[in-house]
Amino acid sequence: MKKRQPTDTLCGFAHNASEVLVTRTAITNATIVTVDAHDTVIHGGTIVIADDTIVEVLPAGVGPATSCDHTIDAGGGIVMPGLINAHTHLAMTAFRGFADDVNLQAFLDKLFPAEAKIMSDRHVRVGVRAAFAEAMLSGCTAALDMYWYPDASLDEAEKAGFRLQTGPIFIGSNGPDNVPFEQRLTNANASTPHSWILAHGTYTMDPTQLAAVGELATSEGARFHIHASENAGEVADVQGRYGRTPVELLDDHGLLRDGTVLAHAVVLTDAEIARLAETNTAVTHCPSSNMKLASGFCRVPELLSAGVTVGLGTDGPSSSNDLDMFTAMRVAALIHKGNRLDPTVLPASSILRMATMGSAAALGIDQLVGSLEVGKNADLVRLDPSSPSLTPIYDPISAVVYAASRADVVDVWINGQAVVRNRTCTTIDLNSVLSDLRDEGRAIAK
Ligand SMILES: [Zn+2]
Repeated sequence: MKKRQPTDTLCGFAHNASEVLVTRTAITNATIVTVDAHDTVIHGGTIVIADDTIVEVLPAGVGPATSCDHTIDAGGGIVMPGLINAHTHLAMTAFRGFADDVNLQAFLDKLFPAEAKIMSDRHVRVGVRAAFAEAMLSGCTAALDMYWYPDASLDEAEKAGFRLQTGPIFIGSNGPDNVPFEQRLTNANASTPHSWILAHGTYTMDPTQLAAVGELATSEGARFHIHASENAGEVADVQGRYGRTPVELLDDHGLLRDGTVLAHAVVLTDAEIARLAETNTAVTHCPSSNMKLASGFCRVPELLSAGVTVGLGTDGPSSSNDLDMFTAMRVAALIHKGNRLDPTVLPASSILRMATMGSAAALGIDQLVGSLEVGKNADLVRLDPSSPSLTPIYDPISAVVYAASRADVVDVWINGQAVVRNRTCTTIDLNSVLSDLRDEGRAIAK
């Protein structure tokens, strides 16, 4: 019997309180945007963190039950849950700006050979270290990542204190790491059970390969993540080859189910939306990538109306050019209003929920994180109370979605650890990482 070693960090590891003394931190005088079930906002409130857990969320005028080791005065500023990036390719920081102003197919045609030229364990480590720094400095505390050498990414995530979800990734061809599909399958079967199994897409694998990967995910009880129906060209391509849309193919293989997350899902029929809802299949909306690659508008309002879990993602930094979840929220909040000529579509509260609890639910970690509530893990972000763009504030949720930016992020905690303190990464040597990343960029450009 193999021992399960989840392919994620900071999720499911029991805290052994007997090993360390409990450290208590109070964040006082805060505008607490909880994203609880009622979208409660507490003005002048206090949050108490004991080690990795939120133990008190208090209204104005009420102090912590017991004394705290550290007290941080939020100065009336916003404290909110960490943002959760539900679809990305973190290590692609080295490919930022490499293939711009083209559609998905042209983007991949340029990218895949360049990746094959540079791909290695080290390349991924450099890329993800830079990505964790960028993500954490912009208020992102967790991500679902799809990329090569996932074990290297998990190792770096542990060191950075970042909450990462990932697992073995499959593609029909050899991939940039030059591993044949059958060997990839053998490797995955030989390693410990995984929390996630990832597949690139139904257009980059044949149905036999998709079935094999699906069987692996099923046998391991793993969650499953795949790009699906990103644009009309992909859907036409798959339909032309197999007579089925990407979503129909996934359904044929039993891969529409609780624990499956589809990235993009831009081109969907009414019947497919109903099927996603029926099967508890989640979708990650990646608005910046969809707009930049001119893929189209994901039918987010219909997905939410049907009861589908929708998370928010940036996609990789090569297709959306950043890992900025504040920008992803803003773009998501604006494009659907403009597209529908309806300012009431996807109000600010639904956008913030998508980037926190929606993403957490898609990743299966909504019991752990995604809102500021007693008992949850302490993944939270403190914004600058003296930011011009956050003054005055009539509605804190609206301010977060329509006015705040990553430049307003001052402090970030992940699992109770202050990974960003006064706009500085505490777990990553940024100068060293950026120097390494420049070297990777030079090697790619050669
Ligand atoms: Zn992607």
